[in-house]
Amino acid sequence: MNRDLIAKLIYDVPDFPKPGVVFKDITPLLGSPEGFRLTVDELVASAPEGIDVVVGMEARGFIFAAPVALALGAGFVPVRKPGKLPGEVLSHSFELEYGSETLTIHRDAIRPGARVLVVDDVLATGGTVGATAELLSAMGAELVHVSVVMELGFLGGRERLSAAGIDNCTALV
Ligand code: 5GP
Repeated sequence: MNRDLIAKLIYDVPDFPKPGVVFKDITPLLGSPEGFRLTVDELVASAPEGIDVVVGMEARGFIFAAPVALALGAGFVPVRKPGKLPGEVLSHSFELEYGSETLTIHRDAIRPGARVLVVDDVLATGGTVGATAELLSAMGAELVHVSVVMELGFLGGRERLSAAGIDNCTALV
């Protein structure tokens, strides 16, 4: 029931950001106090025990990862596009649905062995989560779970993650 409401509050926007793409717009979900609250509650419920750090990816991942971190009593660490983080960073480049992208993280933001939950809004091709997993692996952190609000199953993200050894993935809708 909760998840029906979440699905209903994510709107299809045809031909955005380019012709032929149907973009999933989460802003109606964020604008609904009930929908936003339910979404964060469900993401928190999907988290395994003993999470030390919640990682969110720029930009929409931040919106969900930060309240999940607070609810879990975990830290929040941002993964950002190049040129945004002031300290020394690790970088990873990858292909995504609409071109190529590089993601960065502060190299000392997570201690080796820390248990990490990755949270994002949408899992599409899996490139973003896969690159984040590479950054975490380079830091010696343990990626224990990935939780996303919505999965676009036809883009094969889950299979791509599975091929990279990431099988613990929850999509709310
Ligand atoms: P992927 O790397 O899995 O191909 O794409 C997922 C990333 O791109 C996520 O960080 C997400 O914010 C963004 N993204 C891709 N497609 C959509 C979409 O249809 N709607 C939204 N809200 N984000 C998308």
